[in-house]
Amino acid sequence: MATIDLKNPKSRQISTISLLEKMERHYKSIPMEAILKQDVLRLGINFSPESLLSGDFKAKDYFIFSFDHIPVADLKSGVQYKTPEEIKISGGHFNLDPTVISTRNNPSSPYLVKLIENKPHLVLDEIDLGVLEFPPIPSWYSHKTKSGKLPGEIAPVIEWGYLIYLTVFRNCQYFGKDEECAYCDINHNYRQQKNNGRPYTGVKDIEDILEVFSWIDAEDKIAKVYTITGGSVLTNLKKKNEVDFYLEYPTEIEKKFPGRFMGKLVAQAFEKEDCKKFSDAGIKVYHPNYEVWDKELFKKICPGKEAWIGRDTWIRRVVDSAEVFGPSYVIPNFVGGVELSEPYGFKTVKEAIDSTSEGLEFFMSKGIMPRFTAWCPEPYTTLGTQAGPPLEYFCELLTSWKNIFEKYNLPTPPGYGEPGVGKAVFSVSAFMDVIGYKGRA
Ligand code: SF4
Repeated sequence: MATIDLKNPKSRQISTISLLEKMERHYKSIPMEAILKQDVLRLGINFSPESLLSGDFKAKDYFIFSFDHIPVADLKSGVQYKTPEEIKISGGHFNLDPTVISTRNNPSSPYLVKLIENKPHLVLDEIDLGVLEFPPIPSWYSHKTKSGKLPGEIAPVIEWGYLIYLTVFRNCQYFGKDEECAYCDINHNYRQQKNNGRPYTGVKDIEDILEVFSWIDAEDKIAKVYTITGGSVLTNLKKKNEVDFYLEYPTEIEKKFPGRFMGKLVAQAFEKEDCKKFSDAGIKVYHPNYEVWDKELFKKICPGKEAWIGRDTWIRRVVDSAEVFGPSYVIPNFVGGVELSEPYGFKTVKEAIDSTSEGLEFFMSKGIMPRFTAWCPEPYTTLGTQAGPPLEYFCELLTSWKNIFEKYNLPTPPGYGEPGVGKAVFSVSAFMDVIGYKGRA
């Protein structure tokens, strides 16, 4: 069994049953499901080829980033190119309630998926962590738009079918290492997918989206929410400025399907007048993602946002937007763990958690609802492939997030489905899994 030395970056890429058990004993205010979920997100999954042959499932649609630890070209051809969007794990060594986890391919991960009695299981250290389900394919995935596009490319679903994810612009005009956010592979992912022959539309046509939505409206009972997002537009796109470009999508969706879905927008931090345009168009939840709280790290990690908008203006706009959408409907994301990245990040978990908790306190004291995704150190990003934070960081982060969320008695974040162990479907961090957990002895 490997020994874990938290100070050694190489060692951080390892996990063991004894590490998980240690975390389970130490972090009693968060569920074991959340601890395991963060570790699997942190280290990715290694699928054995035979585990991917057990029936049909919805494969990764690469809905915005690659979210893989290796280049797409290095995924083996055939079945290993087609891994499930998410896994749902239950039972096993920790007797887990069903827990949905996003797939991040990593052939070097200690988390191996293999067949046990003909069913896929997640295995660590040869110990069975639980049986897996893979997401079902929605019926409407079998259609094709009049323009010949596949629904899974135009309007893929994630979060076990709950969220329709519309990356309407698959590039970002923050370009190159002086502007791109240092953890982000949107532009690189686009190139990788195109080079590997995946149909991948750079700018989506609203007509294609409306066509797919008409099938979802008629056939789907699980999808309840859509997200409009994409890269930043600094000059113009399709002869429109950023606000007008993104505004067209919710406007047309809400015109055709008024109130049928809850609309969310992930975009830059806009001034109130522009936020009002989206709210008037029918957008309910706004995600002006602030990515990393520390002022100096923001400059280093989000150089384009710093140059074009600036960190203080960004934060001020997040706060102002609460007057338009309502505080709990403003849900700015940060990239959990990037504050520990090399070379600029904090050197200790404590410093990282202190800084990030200060940001949580700042927003949550105003009723605003920050949430996080787990940083995936993807190749081709400015930060590149690196060890990433230890599991201890994510346990501390979930504990802090939950404590501050409870301190301000905040409501369940809207647009994420049911919270809690065994129910949460948000798959790229465990913040929804910890809500309402009473702790264990
Ligand atoms: S603004 Fe940053 S995080 Fe968003 S798409 Fe552009 S580079 Fe990526």
